[in-house]
Amino acid sequence: MHILVTNDDGVTAPGLLALVTEMRKVGEVSVLAPDHNWSASGHVKTLHRPLRAKPVTLSDGSPALACDGAPSDCVALALMGVIEKPVDLVVSGINPNANIGHDITYSGTVTAAMEAVINGVPGVAVSLDAPEHFSGILDYATAAVSARKVVEILIKHPFGIDILLNINVPYLSENELKGFRPTRQGMRIYRDELIRREDPRGKPYFWIGGDAPTGVDEIGTDFGDLKAGYVSISPIQLDMTAYKVLEDIKGWEWPVK
Ligand code: MN
Repeated sequence: MHILVTNDDGVTAPGLLALVTEMRKVGEVSVLAPDHNWSASGHVKTLHRPLRAKPVTLSDGSPALACDGAPSDCVALALMGVIEKPVDLVVSGINPNANIGHDITYSGTVTAAMEAVINGVPGVAVSLDAPEHFSGILDYATAAVSARKVVEILIKHPFGIDILLNINVPYLSENELKGFRPTRQGMRIYRDELIRREDPRGKPYFWIGGDAPTGVDEIGTDFGDLKAGYVSISPIQLDMTAYKVLEDIKGWEWPVK
C-alpha cells in the first residue's frame, strides 16, 4: 500500500506530519504538498504557468516534496509521475477546521481528494473540528488515529470509482469520542459580511469578513454527528447531478429544437 499524503495548509503544517506518522502504520508514505497555505482555494488546475516541486525535509527529518501549485495540482503531479511509484490511496489533511456541508467545494483539503478520484485513485479528506479562535498548539492525535482507523476499514471495503470519503473529527480526546458514524452532507449556514474599506491611496477594497459559519444541527449529517461527538464519515460523489430534478425537468415543455 503506497499512500500519498497531501494537504492545503502547506507542507510545514503540523496536521500533515500527524497524518503522515499514522499513515506510515498502514503503508509506505510519500508526501507532495503545497509550499504555502491554500485553504479555501477550491478545486484548481494550474495550466498557465510552470509548476515546480522541490525536495524539503519534514520536521521529523523525513523527505517530502513541496510544490508551488494548489493541493489538487499536487495530487495531479504526483499521480501523473512526479512520484514514480504508483499511488494506491491519497489522504489529504489534517485540516485544522471542519469541512462539512457546502464547505467541500471551497476546501483545498477535500478537492485534493477529489483530484485523486478523478485520476482513478481512492481519496480521503481529513479535517479536525478545532474550536473557534483557538490560539494554542492544536492536538491532532485523535484525528490522526481516527483517520488511520477509517483508512484501515476502507482498505478492507473498497468502493466504486467517483467517490471520496470526507472525514471530520471532533476536537476531543480518544476517550471522549462517542464513535464513528457514516453521515450525509449537511447544510452550512454562512455568516459572511462584506467589509468595505479604503486603501492608503483612497481606492476601495473589499474583504469577506463576518463570524465563522454554523450549520443545521441534524443527526445523520456531517454537521450534526460531528457536533454530537462522533467522527463523521461522508461518502461524497463527484457526479453532482440532481437525479430527481432531472426526472422532473424531463417533463417540462422543451423546444423541439
Ligand atoms: Mn486548510
